[in-house]
Amino acid sequence: MSVMYERVALIGLGLIAGSMSLAMRRAGVAGEITGYARSAQTRDTARELGLVDRVCESASDAVKDADLVVLAVPVGAMGTVMQEIAPALKQGAVVTDVGSVKKDIFASVLPHLPENVEFIGTHPMAGTEHSGPTAGFAELFDKRWCLIVPTETSTDVEIERLEAFWHALGADTKRMDADHHDLVCAVVSHTPHLIAYTMVGVADDLSRVTDQEVIEFSAAGFRDFTRIAASDPTMWRDVFLSNKEATLEILGRFTEELFALQRAIRQGDGDHLHEYFTRTRAIRRGIIEAGQDTDAPNFGRNSDAS
Ligand code: NAP
Repeated sequence: MSVMYERVALIGLGLIAGSMSLAMRRAGVAGEITGYARSAQTRDTARELGLVDRVCESASDAVKDADLVVLAVPVGAMGTVMQEIAPALKQGAVVTDVGSVKKDIFASVLPHLPENVEFIGTHPMAGTEHSGPTAGFAELFDKRWCLIVPTETSTDVEIERLEAFWHALGADTKRMDADHHDLVCAVVSHTPHLIAYTMVGVADDLSRVTDQEVIEFSAAGFRDFTRIAASDPTMWRDVFLSNKEATLEILGRFTEELFALQRAIRQGDGDHLHEYFTRTRAIRRGIIEAGQDTDAPNFGRNSDAS
């Protein structure tokens, strides 16, 4: 594939940035990839791994002469990073973020955006519970969605170039506005994470009563909650603080449904439970048909029961 951006700068060198760098190399779409992370330890690890072509000692150095700048830091740090790099950005550069929330990020970065620089939001809907510079892999975005969220500074030509870039990294893209993005992500990602955190927290409290049993017998569904609940605490703290409105709305609906199921169990209303579970089972089938997960038993794990 041919080069799409002569120089790409990655600010933050964790799971998402590391995976982007490896996927860019696989696709041959970047001339040079520079990178910066806030701690010397992460910068050293990135150098040892050869994660990017050049690890810089400041964010400003990394973005100098970059055609595409990717902000891959926690949501709450985006504004400060943008403020820091703004004077070093080249005229005509495109800045994008990969944050899990859009309205709050736009509010924090756009006031610092210099003239003649565009900002286009992106959100690759792909991740694992691992973080840091060793967590990345080139296939992370393969067949995953990357949501493209233009701002009033974005031009069609640069939006299309960024979409083509994400296609080269393996993803499918879909455009949406920031409000819709935040609502969709509250449903499919943010609230489920909150529920997993809560379930694991409740089990942890209980485990003091039942000793090791919660861990010992964790194969029974609970294990999948623990994987989600192992996700990075800083990242997820920032997501909930930033996507407050949409998460609270979905959480309200979730609580209502939970009360309805609670009532059905108390009243022995098996029809209600059966109808409900039939509907949710169909959603799982839809996800598999869309190629977003495997239908192998137990998510393709080759041992023990689900
Ligand atoms: P990560 O693996 O924890 O990496 C975060 C990077 O940001 C690290 O290099 C870290 O540097 C740097 N950083 C942290 N705080 C900073 C600050 N205050 N100022 C400057 N740099 C800072 O995180 P990630 O999973 O790649 O997530 C990055 C972004 O992608 C987040 O906005 C997240 O919402 C979004 N996202 C994540 C996922 C996912 O599942 N993980 C999926 C889609 C989108 P040090 O190592 O030096 O601390």
